[in-house]
Amino acid sequence: MKIGYISSEISPIAKVGGLADVSLGLSRAIQAMGNQTFVMIPKYKSLKTKYLEYIKELDETFSIRFDNKVYQIKVWEAKLYDMRIYLLDACSPHSFFDSPLIYGEKNDLERFSFFSLAALEYINLQHRNVDLIHLNDWHTALVAPLYQYKFKTQFNAKIVFTIHNMNYQGVTELPLFDLVGLPKDPYLQQCLHPADPHKINLIKTGIVFSDFVNTVSPNYYHEIKNPQNGHGLESVVLEYEKKFTGILNGIDYDIWDPKIDKALFLNYSAEELEKKYLTKDYLRKELQIPLKDRTPLVACICRLVPQKGLPMIKHAIKHTLNLGGQFILFGSSPIPQIQEDFNQLKIKYTENPNVKFIFDSYNEELAHQIYAGSDMLICPSLFEPCGLTQMIALHYGTVPIVRQTGGLADTIFDIEHHELAEVLGNGFSYLPPTKKAIENTLTRAFKVYHEKPLLWKKTIERGMKMDYSWQASAQKYFDIYSKITSKQ
Ligand code: ADP
Repeated sequence: MKIGYISSEISPIAKVGGLADVSLGLSRAIQAMGNQTFVMIPKYKSLKTKYLEYIKELDETFSIRFDNKVYQIKVWEAKLYDMRIYLLDACSPHSFFDSPLIYGEKNDLERFSFFSLAALEYINLQHRNVDLIHLNDWHTALVAPLYQYKFKTQFNAKIVFTIHNMNYQGVTELPLFDLVGLPKDPYLQQCLHPADPHKINLIKTGIVFSDFVNTVSPNYYHEIKNPQNGHGLESVVLEYEKKFTGILNGIDYDIWDPKIDKALFLNYSAEELEKKYLTKDYLRKELQIPLKDRTPLVACICRLVPQKGLPMIKHAIKHTLNLGGQFILFGSSPIPQIQEDFNQLKIKYTENPNVKFIFDSYNEELAHQIYAGSDMLICPSLFEPCGLTQMIALHYGTVPIVRQTGGLADTIFDIEHHELAEVLGNGFSYLPPTKKAIENTLTRAFKVYHEKPLLWKKTIERGMKMDYSWQASAQKYFDIYSKITSKQ
């Protein structure tokens, strides 16, 4: 089968969050199953090209009509691991991606609508034999109606649409259909935002016009059928239930594996945990955290946005220090007020060497070192479509402490409370989104760490041996691809 992935991110060259890991991990896993795949993303100015095996500008350009103007498009081809990547931008009359930001420009809706049209036109010109086009989130959702009503007569493909986060829906008053040249009648009606019929909702557009839709964990799929997590689209999810499912994301173990990870000071496996503790000391030395024996190091690696449970993160820092532990907060906020709030928190703790705040929005090597060197990782999210950090932590022998929501509930099983704890227990979890709940759970984790070292070791070993690789999830995607294209 030949599959084209269209996405706004791919790890590690253009990464903001989990979507980037999924774009790379899923396309590689599907390719490893014997399929032909390629990924298309915008040619951002901020691309981390050092990770590419090669990048070359292709000779030919092509044009599209967007917003009643003719744009010339340039295409670059690159190799990332074993994946073929196409990078697109306009070269005339002006670029859309010549800014340092992936997201956050005033014209994001136009930028990604332009990219959706350009990507589809490139497939039409060069890859008409594609069997399936896989879209991701609102940024590329417009490809679905564009294919159905402009390109279906040119080539025959099916469309799969994955929603990585229902909280970001791409809602706009802009006349996007006019910009990309789609007829308003009768299609626009089906794309209108339920809460405001003067606006287009791009996630809804993707749901309505794709052949199959999924979100990124089975539990989150159930959660988005109710108003709290459906963010206004719960009735649309229910309406299209027959073509909708939840598939858990995987982890690419070629990239995330402590046995081979080049970013680590020392490689290790579940059988040589003493080496993990040497990486812990190395990390603490690097970050100037005191080297104290039997002192749990707790980490939180995330974008600092409300979804991630910010009051609970702050409280976990305070409580970890009260319990005599050490804490690393790694990540930054795209929201200036939140970043400022955390800057103030960092100032408050300046004198305390047992807590480190690293407000780096993206540092792949350091992320790997923190996963390896920590004892525990917290995810107190209010909601979490899948969550990758808890699954990466497991593979690095770092015990997750999570709120039971979305994919966190699908992957982490409390060693004290889960009914199958003796078989599945791999971390700690709690339900109420409160400071008290994370406080109690941290206390429980510290108690096991200090008082039941054998249980702690067993928990680590069990987590490291669990298989959250892409293989199983990719097979589920492939089964869907096969079903809707009627190909094996
Ligand atoms: P989300 O997609 O909501 O950001 P996920 O848990 O699905 O959350 O994915 C987060 C991904 O981003 C993980 O791969 C994590 O390691 C990575 N990440 C988060 N913050 C940073 C950072 N500051 N530097 C490098 N990687 C980061």
